[in-house]
Amino acid sequence: RLYGASFPLDSLTCFLTPDRISYEEAIKQEFKPFKVGQSFGPTWWTCWFRLEISIPKDWSGKEVHLVWESDGEGMVWRDRQPVQGLATEGKKTSYILSESLNPEEPHSLTFYVEQAGNGLFGAGDGSMIAPPDPNKSFTLHKAELVIFNKDVYELLVDFEILIDIAKLLGEDNQRSFQALYTANQMVNMCDVIDPSTFPAVHELARAFFAQKNGDSQHTIHAMGHCHIDTAWLWPYAETIRKCARSWVTVIRLMEKNPNFIFTCSQAQQFEWVRTRYPGLYAEIQDYARQGRFIPVGGTWVEMDGNLPSGEAMVRQFLQGQRFFKKEFGKYCTEFWLPDTFGYSAQLPQIMQGCGIKRFLTQKLSWNLVNTFPHHTFFWEGIDGSRVLTHFPPGDSYEMKSKVEDLLKTVKNHKEKGRLNHSTLLFGFGDGGAGPTQLHLDRMQRMQDVDGLPRTQQSTPDSFFSAVEADTSLLCAWKGELFLELHNGSYTSQAQIKKQNRKCECILHDVEMVSGLALVQKRTFQYPSAKLQHLWRLLLVNQFHDVLPGSCIQMVVEDALKYYEELRNSSTQLLKDAMLSLFQGSSGSTEGRNTVLNTLSWERTEVVSLQGPGQKKTLALVKVPSIGYTTVTESLKPTFPVTVTKQADGSVSMENGILRAIIDPIGRITSLYLLDCKREAISEGCYGNQFVIFDDIPLYWDAWDVMDYHLETRKPLMETLNPLEIVSSGGLRGCLKFSIRISKVSVIHQEVILDAMCPYLKFKTEVEWHEAHKFLKVEFPVRVHSMNSTYEIQFGHLQRPTHWNTSWDWARYEVWGHKWSDLSEHGFGVALLNDCKYGCSAHQNVMRLSLLRAPKSPDSNADIGHHQFTYAVQPHAGCFQEAGVIQCAYNMNFPLHIAPLECAGPEVGSWSAFSLPSPAVVLETIKLAEDRSDALLVRLYESHGSTVVTQLHTSLPVKEAFLCDLLEHTDPSKALPISDSSIELSFTPFQILSLILFLNEALN
Ligand SMILES: [Zn+2]
Repeated sequence: RLYGASFPLDSLTCFLTPDRISYEEAIKQEFKPFKVGQSFGPTWWTCWFRLEISIPKDWSGKEVHLVWESDGEGMVWRDRQPVQGLATEGKKTSYILSESLNPEEPHSLTFYVEQAGNGLFGAGDGSMIAPPDPNKSFTLHKAELVIFNKDVYELLVDFEILIDIAKLLGEDNQRSFQALYTANQMVNMCDVIDPSTFPAVHELARAFFAQKNGDSQHTIHAMGHCHIDTAWLWPYAETIRKCARSWVTVIRLMEKNPNFIFTCSQAQQFEWVRTRYPGLYAEIQDYARQGRFIPVGGTWVEMDGNLPSGEAMVRQFLQGQRFFKKEFGKYCTEFWLPDTFGYSAQLPQIMQGCGIKRFLTQKLSWNLVNTFPHHTFFWEGIDGSRVLTHFPPGDSYEMKSKVEDLLKTVKNHKEKGRLNHSTLLFGFGDGGAGPTQLHLDRMQRMQDVDGLPRTQQSTPDSFFSAVEADTSLLCAWKGELFLELHNGSYTSQAQIKKQNRKCECILHDVEMVSGLALVQKRTFQYPSAKLQHLWRLLLVNQFHDVLPGSCIQMVVEDALKYYEELRNSSTQLLKDAMLSLFQGSSGSTEGRNTVLNTLSWERTEVVSLQGPGQKKTLALVKVPSIGYTTVTESLKPTFPVTVTKQADGSVSMENGILRAIIDPIGRITSLYLLDCKREAISEGCYGNQFVIFDDIPLYWDAWDVMDYHLETRKPLMETLNPLEIVSSGGLRGCLKFSIRISKVSVIHQEVILDAMCPYLKFKTEVEWHEAHKFLKVEFPVRVHSMNSTYEIQFGHLQRPTHWNTSWDWARYEVWGHKWSDLSEHGFGVALLNDCKYGCSAHQNVMRLSLLRAPKSPDSNADIGHHQFTYAVQPHAGCFQEAGVIQCAYNMNFPLHIAPLECAGPEVGSWSAFSLPSPAVVLETIKLAEDRSDALLVRLYESHGSTVVTQLHTSLPVKEAFLCDLLEHTDPSKALPISDSSIELSFTPFQILSLILFLNEALN
């Protein structure tokens, strides 16, 4: 009875294309007849339908809908504009032609429907997260005009809510009986074949809903939302259309529902709609001005919360906030990251630095082991920065505004007694679609109904302002928000992770060298626009299903293409900058190399130089901090490396710092720190022991590694090629060996010890053809400690090495960045890596997670060739004193040997910046945003200590100011410069950004 008379379309024709083409291009194509019930496809193709319709004249005064029930996601186009998204899974199957047909309005119309060959959740073969079936076909089940009986719909909504209240409030609640009896009376009064009885029936429900709550009732701030994964079970290109379909539907709902508020994150998605759908974008901007379509989050995409580097996280906000300010006139005031697999303990400081004091997420409700104790609390980062944090107590970002959603929100709410406000996010999500009229109609009825929480359409600002009015009873949580699930996502899709790390490093170098080149030569063109483009490629790939590796193969291919562009362009930009920086050299370059160091400490390392006639030769070089040196010959090492083969086939390598003994199958039987006479490897154990585990998660294949995988540990011991000596010492000792993983997979490794180097390096290649296996390498070390330390963004944190409580053992697989360390007082061992993130330390065994082999949603995930490097560094003292942080940076930011054509000045060394304190890392140098006369320099305190130090510079700095992470300077925070030095004070893990104005205008 919801629908009255129906009427067929006058004509339906279609055109099928493998590409996602524009409307203009589509309508020029040749359309062929199509019948309802027919199918189209395959997967990822698009079927454009042309619909000719004539609304019957005698439907005057009726609400007329075009009903469109089809597999796949659709978009209605009318008068060259997108007007309505359609998705059966998202409960959007009709487009309202007229709410009350007027005889004057046109009855004969032409529409187009752009129907995508994918559903809201892509095209998984059999299950949602299965790899897509490339040969799916999609059926158009219904396409017709109908009369929509609004009065029947209103009664259905009334009944649904009353019945839900009756069922869900329970038999001990009298309100439940009142709802039941109201519904019963309505049934008695309603004559289904006589619509004239409906208004009185509706009135009974209205009277029930009008019975209000007392003053003490909880207030739910409801906000429309539509989580659109920037790429996941569908490629980036489809997301662009998902945004348009979802948001145009939001605009239609806004036209009809004046209270409707919608929150929308991710600058990249706005940017896509801005360029591809300018008409829709103008409408969005209009509703944004009215404060109803609310940009939130402040980041370029909803990124992974663990793996991006500190600088990349800053850039998520810098690119995002600047976009929102430019396009919508203001910065976002809430960080919005509902769906990421954990949250770094450095985020509060980064948020604060980007003008954000409030944070919304809900993902910790997915914890498999422990229930997080708060929904609203202060979250405190490793530096002590605090942000007001809220988890919607409904544990979802896609509720449907049902009675059960409201009741769950109040029942779950952990801050009962402390706070009487919470949020509820409603609308279909993940694959898009967003809120529906039904969600809004439910909400309208349940605004203030005795027995249910008070519910209002609200903005994030109104909600957080209500909380901020009295925070005296709120609790605080210090440190990371660790998600006890999806811990395999630190390792899955190793190529994406490797390229992410490499690209973060190369962008660091390009910006730094370009900045220095600009100061040296004012005619140098700093590549601002190119760098913004390249940063955005990196940032979009940090989306929370791309960098974690939980996406389909098509997305992996897209991401790797972005990285390839990034690396190619960056390599050229770096070369351009070096050419400019070193220009002025003359004469032959034979036998002379310029070596560049982009890190803020002096380095003495073995590098491979370009010798005469293109020959590579090893040399030991010393390069000043953020500077370069010209090298004509190698320095003499204090102790050359010695390599000695022993009777049992083992080989000993020694460099005056370390002595390592490696057995014939590549395991370290001894790692001896000579100065302090300490053995690092546990007695009777082996370091560099490869181990493999069965890795079969309960459901989320690419995401999860379950605790029970640890029960299946198998050491790899089958030699393919036993240990042999590649390089017999001097500047470098190098050994190699190969071992079998299985019949189809093999590891080749070079073990490298350089002169003067405090760590032993493992250059590793793996041919990997496994299914549901997890490869790790382990180092059982002679260290006794309750905690191990892991590098995170701009700092580090500790996690337990024991499994005392459920909170401890739930962290059986954790993440870290360039290094992890296990130390007792006076001695410790660090593991360094150049592209890995998964790791763990249980008791005295340190593990680095290397490769997984999940099969969903990408059946080819990680299959093939891999190359990565890790290192082990035993050290005296604590890791801070031992320079572990610097060593890990050194491994990730190799010294650059300038190409021959930019050979550099004839002699000497040059350093742009130096710092006496080893605790402070100068992380970033770039041209300041919107300025041509100033550099931005970012530093952080890395030891966890309070430090006063000097930043020395050889650059002609006129004035220096502190600024925030969005690069706003505070004129009152000028820093005095004396003797080319600036005094800086840091608290533990504090990030400081400076704007340095140069003496002369740059370009
Ligand atoms: Zn998501």
